[in-house]
Amino acid sequence: KDFIHNVHSTDQERILEIVKKSIHSGEAFTIEFRQKNANEELLWCESIGKPVFNHKNELQHLVILTRDITLRKEYESKLKYFAYHDALTELPNRLLFNKRFASAKKQFLNKNNGLAIVILDIDHFKEINDTYGHDIGDAVIKEFGIRIQQSIRNHDTVARLGGDEFIILLPNIQNIENAVEIAKRIKLKMQQPWRIKGQKLTVTTSMGIAMATLSQKFTKSDLIKNADIALYEAKNSGRDNYKLYID
Ligand code: GH3
Ligand code: MG
Repeated sequence: KDFIHNVHSTDQERILEIVKKSIHSGEAFTIEFRQKNANEELLWCESIGKPVFNHKNELQHLVILTRDITLRKEYESKLKYFAYHDALTELPNRLLFNKRFASAKKQFLNKNNGLAIVILDIDHFKEINDTYGHDIGDAVIKEFGIRIQQSIRNHDTVARLGGDEFIILLPNIQNIENAVEIAKRIKLKMQQPWRIKGQKLTVTTSMGIAMATLSQKFTKSDLIKNADIALYEAKNSGRDNYKLYID
């Protein structure tokens, strides 16, 4: 059968191209691609090959050694995933937030569609850990992340900054009231009953909202600093609430 008869259709052209180049140059090649095994399961494979020529410099054949690298590929994609996601909540981490922020900022500067962030921190989370233990504390952090995710729009990003602190990126936000609506939605969502591993809990959060304004040359760290100031105010004024940063 043809060398590429089991190769995934989207990889075929690339393989033929590389093999052609190798025949032309006489150099060895290494290529990663997907192909089906006898059970029709798709495997990741790595082939190392070299063309063999006779004394007249005519191609005799290709020698190709192929091995199954599926496990390595799975491991690599897991590594890539956890470089950008928090291991406990599987939400985006700070690094992915930074990436998304950079592109939201570009859009904001080019098209002037509003941009806001919300920083959230669970109220008295230490007491939850102290009273119920870290396992339940972890489960609360997870559920907290899920509830935020359920309260935002599709193109918003919620990321875990660390500990009990989260951040939401709100691109394309018309005005500060839209950000407030989202904060209100989150507050309501947290009021729904909490039952974690058989324990009934009450969980509230404080939130600081900051909006980027075109009049200032804003940076990510300015915006985060402003949201942090607002969060601090929310904590100081009794928690379980949101505050806006006002210039
Ligand atoms: P405040 O209302 O001022 O926010 O009080 P707080 O008790 O929530 O205080 P703070 O936000 O400073 O404390 C966060 C605590 O979260 C501190 C740390 O022990 C705990 N923590 C951090 N990371 C984790 C984690 O991954 N799992 C668990 N269970 N606890 C964590
Ligand atoms: Mg806290």
